[in-house]
Amino acid sequence: MHRTLDMPAPSDAEERRSKPPVVVYPNETLPPAGLDVLYAARQSMSKVAEIIVPPREAGSFRVPKGHFFRIVSMEGSQVGDLNLWNAADLSECFFSGKTRALHATHVGVGDRLWSTLPYLRPMATITYDTLGWYGWDADGAGIHDVIGTRCDPYTNRLLKGDDYHHCCHSNLSRALASEMNIPVREAEAHVHDVLNVFMCTGFTRDTHQYFMKASPVRPGDFIEFFAEIDLVGALSACPGGDCGSGHSSDLAPCYPLRVEIWQPDPESLAGRAFPERSPYPGTHGL
Ligand SMILES: [Zn+2]
Repeated sequence: MHRTLDMPAPSDAEERRSKPPVVVYPNETLPPAGLDVLYAARQSMSKVAEIIVPPREAGSFRVPKGHFFRIVSMEGSQVGDLNLWNAADLSECFFSGKTRALHATHVGVGDRLWSTLPYLRPMATITYDTLGWYGWDADGAGIHDVIGTRCDPYTNRLLKGDDYHHCCHSNLSRALASEMNIPVREAEAHVHDVLNVFMCTGFTRDTHQYFMKASPVRPGDFIEFFAEIDLVGALSACPGGDCGSGHSSDLAPCYPLRVEIWQPDPESLAGRAFPERSPYPGTHGL
């Protein structure tokens, strides 16, 4: 823990602390997700493809704009680390930090997964979540966080001094390399901070450290997204399993995850506008 408590407080400390919190990004002016249309569209959808992601590995998949995709729990409680890219341009990818700033530390139905600058548009919209009942628990934890980054072999070497090759970062790198037929070092540069699917996390009340606890996900649970642009995705079945103990090792029980691609009747989306990249001209005052 850092040492702020060593610092003597000024006489007006309580007055300074008493200011009201202001939400940094009031989000009432965000473009509406149009859930009514998406709910109607999902009534007509049928499954057109699926992949199985083995434990401690990642799998890749493609989702055409206007399709839905689901991440489904199978066999046992398992966390997934999700990366998304624009299928036509890998430089546009999921922006975990801005998604957190615009929505919350954890995301759910109606929230969007935003893309990096200078694009900044919804890549996907969350349309269904069987864990939506969980809310916030007594520890302040929630599900599907955009706080954590992903387990990676560099941090593991830093903290433990050994090498582990099935961290989500490595799994996602191998999956993207295979999907795009590029070297793994090139793919690694495109791997980014994830959506922690099914992961149960929060911040400790005393030290505000990032914590995890065993995921409440059970076989049959799923989270569903609507693809707002053509997507390439990669999903890692984290070596942490349900992330109730540790990660970055083979110690935790791990289970596969299934990704399903669902196609609705195109007529059901007639008239729905798909997002364009940000119209900001990028001149930055020059
Ligand atoms: Zn992981």
